[in-house]
Amino acid sequence: MISTSSFVLAGGHVVDPKNNIDKKCDVLVKDGVIIEISENISAEASVEIINISGKYVFPGLIDLQVHLREPGREDKETIESGLKSALCGGITSVVSMPNTTPVTDSQSAVEFQISRAKKLNLGNLYPSGAITKGQKGKEISEMWEMKNSGIVAITDDGVDVQNEGILEKAMEYAKTHDLVLMSHCQNEALSGGGVLHEGDISTKLALPGISPQAEDLAVYKNLVLAEKTGCKLHLLHNSTKESVKLIKEFKARGVNISAETCPQYLTLTDAICDNYNTQGKMYPPIRSQDHQDALIEGLKENTISVISTDHAPHLAFEKEKPFVESVWGSVGVECSFALCYTRLVKTGELSLSDLLAKMTFQPADVISIKRGDLSVGSVADIAVFDLEKEWEIKVDEMQTKGGNCVFEGMKVFGKPTHVFVAGDEKLSTIK
Ligand SMILES: [Zn+2]
Repeated sequence: MISTSSFVLAGGHVVDPKNNIDKKCDVLVKDGVIIEISENISAEASVEIINISGKYVFPGLIDLQVHLREPGREDKETIESGLKSALCGGITSVVSMPNTTPVTDSQSAVEFQISRAKKLNLGNLYPSGAITKGQKGKEISEMWEMKNSGIVAITDDGVDVQNEGILEKAMEYAKTHDLVLMSHCQNEALSGGGVLHEGDISTKLALPGISPQAEDLAVYKNLVLAEKTGCKLHLLHNSTKESVKLIKEFKARGVNISAETCPQYLTLTDAICDNYNTQGKMYPPIRSQDHQDALIEGLKENTISVISTDHAPHLAFEKEKPFVESVWGSVGVECSFALCYTRLVKTGELSLSDLLAKMTFQPADVISIKRGDLSVGSVADIAVFDLEKEWEIKVDEMQTKGGNCVFEGMKVFGKPTHVFVAGDEKLSTIK
């Protein structure tokens, strides 16, 4: 175990998109801070040399959308198991979603999460708070108090604020308090009752579908109100081609917005739901190939500037139900980089640096944190990856308590060998 927070990572290939670094060089860390990045650093004897030749050095990855389930459903995930799982995927910072039990809509709920994470001393936890009390869409929550306690964003993720008047008011408050509002775009009047993408597969299985328009309309509503209010808006887990078009248009108009998608929408299509495979049940649903193609185009032109996971752990048996009754979502933090690297970089769709931008400094910018790059003087959150390592995704081998994984059995490339948080190596303490 590497216990010192002063060391040289020697012989690796450093990719730091924010600073345009993509070359073989060494990294010197002292007391948890990045001191120097250059070729052949000759450190004094007191500093440990960690030889990582053949490996890649990235800023610790950042995931803007993780369901940690604590408090309330510690049988599905805890802050501890979720942060450990994230570290195993090279993720050093996560934003926790507020749909806990009770909902994270108060100062005390935020303080609970922060103190728990502090005690655990694993990765960085940045809580989000609910937009509305109880995520019920009616009364705006105590944003200012929660911001003072440490939230980095507000969201009712899991649902969208259906009442436009309340959403507009929430955006005005969010702007006043300088908080980013993150929307799960879904028009419930259109999506209500649906369980998978509306298309050939839903027709074949005779299951109620969720049309792309259920997302498109909600995206448009959110964009229009963000333009009016000037609120900083982040659109969570986009899944449709029209969303990409709308986001592009509003970005071009100078509206203060960002958008993300997730590995499930980039690596799978609704064919995964065939034979009533409930692992493929996702909210928003995994869509058809034409939507996936548009999302990848959106990533290429940076219309979609963030990749997050929507890591949603559930108990295995909760997926072993008829499709309509089965739970939504999949775990994802432990394999998100490997999936995207395999699907997007190894195929030549994106450069490694462009992929990393969407998993490091660009998400950091959304929530305005000083993370996601390897600038001299910054906190040494670092992930070292072996990109040649091929492995098979198996939920049983993960740190998450969740038993639901839509990626089960997929073969991917890229696994972290060392993960540092403020200069402390965490991976060797987990496994
Ligand atoms: Zn969501």
